[in-house]
Amino acid sequence: MAKNLTLLALAVFALICALAAARSALGLRRTAWGILAFGLAAWAVADVIRIGQVRLSEPERFPRPVDYLYLAFSASTVLAMALFPAKRTGQRRLRFALDATTTVLCLSLLLWVTALHRVYDSFVGLNTAVVVTMLFQIGDLVALTIALLALVRADVRDRRVLWLLVAALGLLTVTHNAYALHVAEAGYQIGSMADIGFAAALIAFAGAAILSRRPAPPPRPAAALPLDSSLWLPYVPLLLAGTVGPALIMSGLERVLVPLVVVAVCLRQVLTARENRRLLAAAAEQALRDPLTGLANRTLFFDRLAHAMMLDRHDDRSVTVVSLDLDDFKLVNDSLGHPTADTVLVLVGKRISACVRTGDTVARLGGDEFILLLEGPADHAHMVAERIVAAFAEPFVIDGESMLMRPSVGMAVASSAEPELAPETLVNRADIAMYAAKRSRLTGLHTFSSEMTLLEPDVAYQVDSADRQLSDGVAQVRLLGELRRAVDERGLDVVYQPKLELSTNRIVGLEALLRWPHPQLGELRPDSFMALVRQHGLMRPVTELVLERVFDDAARWASSGLHPRVAVNLFAPLLRDERLPDALRDALDEHGLAPEMLTLEVTEDLALDEVSRVTAVLHRLRRHGIRVAIDDFGSGYSALSYLRDLPIDEVKLDRHFIKSVTRDARAAAVVRAVIDLARDLDISVVAEGVEGAETAVWLREHGCDIGQGYYFGRPAAASEIPQLIGR
Ligand code: C2E
Ligand code: CA
Ligand code: CA
Repeated sequence: MAKNLTLLALAVFALICALAAARSALGLRRTAWGILAFGLAAWAVADVIRIGQVRLSEPERFPRPVDYLYLAFSASTVLAMALFPAKRTGQRRLRFALDATTTVLCLSLLLWVTALHRVYDSFVGLNTAVVVTMLFQIGDLVALTIALLALVRADVRDRRVLWLLVAALGLLTVTHNAYALHVAEAGYQIGSMADIGFAAALIAFAGAAILSRRPAPPPRPAAALPLDSSLWLPYVPLLLAGTVGPALIMSGLERVLVPLVVVAVCLRQVLTARENRRLLAAAAEQALRDPLTGLANRTLFFDRLAHAMMLDRHDDRSVTVVSLDLDDFKLVNDSLGHPTADTVLVLVGKRISACVRTGDTVARLGGDEFILLLEGPADHAHMVAERIVAAFAEPFVIDGESMLMRPSVGMAVASSAEPELAPETLVNRADIAMYAAKRSRLTGLHTFSSEMTLLEPDVAYQVDSADRQLSDGVAQVRLLGELRRAVDERGLDVVYQPKLELSTNRIVGLEALLRWPHPQLGELRPDSFMALVRQHGLMRPVTELVLERVFDDAARWASSGLHPRVAVNLFAPLLRDERLPDALRDALDEHGLAPEMLTLEVTEDLALDEVSRVTAVLHRLRRHGIRVAIDDFGSGYSALSYLRDLPIDEVKLDRHFIKSVTRDARAAAVVRAVIDLARDLDISVVAEGVEGAETAVWLREHGCDIGQGYYFGRPAAASEIPQLIGR
């Protein structure tokens, strides 16, 4: 009596759990749990009826009416298991069907040899008892088979639940058989074993229902490998049937040999399955790697990033993305060829990997774009990024040639202030910071800030492909690397060439000219490296460097009472920058210099469509008191319209006119005309490239104001200037 009440209580408990599971589940899972709840309700009702019958102490027959209710429960398990969603793992249908067949056959065989043959032997003819017993058996078998196969294919989320359901159905199957045997052979005593079996099954059902309501761990997006249990689980029924069966019904040697053969075959199958799995894992790994460098590829990177950002919400760790792009890699590719460029990429990958910690992800997204995922405190990530920038100070050695590669590095951190931040956005930000680094050129690492935008590409970063005439690839690449380093380390010099007033022969100004003291090649003049400066976005930093030098030198001369005017050559595109006039005025102020001491020499190669924009900047410069000169006048086109349209103080006649002015009547005519024109427009005229006395005399006679050239003085170091002016 107490036993029966306990079973009833358990059935009711399992029913409540199943109802709760159905309520919280969605879709097919909800239906499955609903059907199971219906079955458990039938079970509970049957238990209640049975308790009543026991009170009446009715004699036991089989099948009793309540057995149809239990049968309803069996049917509900079959339906519910069939509805439980199984993930498609790409397994073939045929394989699934074979697994199902083996499982059903093996389980039947097992049941038959252990109990059923004795049960069916005891029946005489086909009657309801046989049919009901068979229905129980079929229900158990089918439900258990479906549950096993569902377990093999289940989503991680359902795995624990399905294990419990398999256990419950397994217990039911065994118990039903024992019970059938008990009914069939009056002598077969199972005592309270059946009750324990039913109780355990009910507890397992309840447990499965409870577990199904718990939130499952978040699934890892990639790594879609079948789990271990799917490898051996289909062989368990075979193993059991193939060993227990022969052991029970065979005799003699085959009783030992057949089970051994079955065990060996099963082992062999499992081994094969594991081997397949290893191959599959290797193939999956391949699909996530960049074949050239062996680093992670885009898929793996975004997978890990998404996962890290998901964890970040729970944890207090930060997620940092570092975007790295090699400067001038196109040059390497174009001039050294793809095999060498590939070698560079491999070496770069190795160098980056050497800087990171285990657990960080280094990926190549393609070309010369590398990207890193760094987890942990943000300042640690920052240190790693700095370490990477520093690692590029060493040249790469390829085929005995050493070349410097410079990376532009941008960094973005996902802060807890933006919990909804998407992985793509974080990567985008790192890219924006990287482009900012590429534009600025000066410091290696840039961290994203909201002021950064990807607006117009900076003027300094425009590459003129027509200028790309490379004579010697290796030399150019190497030279560029060295140039970048020289710019970074302020290793460029400025020399000054005097400008003389032709009527008095007095020095009235200086022109600042750039020099690069190269350790191997000696002092390099701008002609040998200016193309690289223009093509690779170094115009701005180089100009800043020159201006800095000039202001420092001028301030030094001023402290010893000298105030020469200094002309600085300015790349024309920099005149598009509307902030230039104010920046220059502030810098002059800072050095205690008058704006009139500075002249900007601009070559006339301005694009015409920009004249209006540039004109505004020129006006602004002049309003500040800074002088503007047109350089190399006469060497380009539309020169006269410049004289008319642009607000300028000085025009420098190109040295090719000056050179031939005493010999060539046409050149002389042009120079004379420009001198007259300039005088009318109140613009001073400078003749550059004066190499002899004859030219100097001609110029003076024709009313040219100022001369510059080797005849008057070669470019000299800043330290020699005071003495030069004093003379
Ligand atoms: P530029 O503005 O026409 O500068 C004058 C060039 O003529 C200088 O060459 C100077 O050394 C050279 N020169 C001076 N007197 C004579 C002469 O009597 N005969 C001959 N044949 N040449 C003479 P450098 O220093 O090699 O500079 C070449 C060009 O590089 C400059 O032409 C200028 O356009 C550019 N450059 C120089 N320094 C800078 C700079 O700091 N920034 C920019 N943007 N460009 C610069
Ligand atoms: Ca000049
Ligand atoms: Ca010039």
